Amino acid sequence: MFPKLFPIVIKAFTSSVLAVVLSSCATSPTGRSQFIMMPDNQINQMGLQAFDTLKSDKKISYNAQYNQATTCIANAITQIVGGNWEVVVFEDKSPNAFALPGNKIGVYTGMLQLVDNQEQLAAVIGHEIGHVLAKHSNERASQEMAVSQGLNILQAMTMPTSALGQLGFGLLGVGAEYGVLKPYGRAQESEADMIGVDLMAKAGFDPRQSIGLWQKMDQATQGQQPVEFMSTHPSHATRIQDLQQHMPQAMGLFQQAQSLGKQPRCI
Ligand SMILES: [Zn+2]
Repeated sequence: MFPKLFPIVIKAFTSSVLAVVLSSCATSPTGRSQFIMMPDNQINQMGLQAFDTLKSDKKISYNAQYNQATTCIANAITQIVGGNWEVVVFEDKSPNAFALPGNKIGVYTGMLQLVDNQEQLAAVIGHEIGHVLAKHSNERASQEMAVSQGLNILQAMTMPTSALGQLGFGLLGVGAEYGVLKPYGRAQESEADMIGVDLMAKAGFDPRQSIGLWQKMDQATQGQQPVEFMSTHPSHATRIQDLQQHMPQAMGLFQQAQSLGKQPRCI
């Protein structure tokens, strides 16, 4: 009995392994090959739950000017990306911002106080959306967590100070809120920069201001607590150099957007 069944079992096993291997090979928007194993739906759920937790734990800003500017800039950019996005301004003096899988964006008042103009805030939001579009949370979760942990981690997102909760918040890039700093890797940061600068340009924001933003960040990071946005991978000098190299392409997109009449006035 057993010997007859055995080849069938082997065959079934091989094809299921093959299916996992095939589904785990993905390509990012910039053409980098990625190991993606978690279901997107599960990562989105993690993002949604994390956002709910952050909204109940953090003070939300009702400053009309800040909210109007942030929403206007985020809308201009998310129109390029598509989908419905929720944007919340948090009362927090650190110069930080984040975007979560499941289409959630958070900007801190400290970031609004830091930027010189709408273009710099567009560079911040573009960068954060870049992390989401390139599925960086999924990539990190696939490397660091078993698929079987997925359901437990969803529940843990309501308990951000538990070990699993901290892992989840860390993977999503918002761990600093709960005492875990988990910076994205250099390749992911560079990728978010490139996607972000193209997005801002397509939305009609002058991409050259992304360089001004990083110069500003460089000054702001002196002696400050590290947050996702001030991640040291790569160094600001390397970022600026990479952005300068990418600028001719971004300027092309910007000019195209301008000729289509995309000239946002958010601040
Ligand atoms: Zn980043």
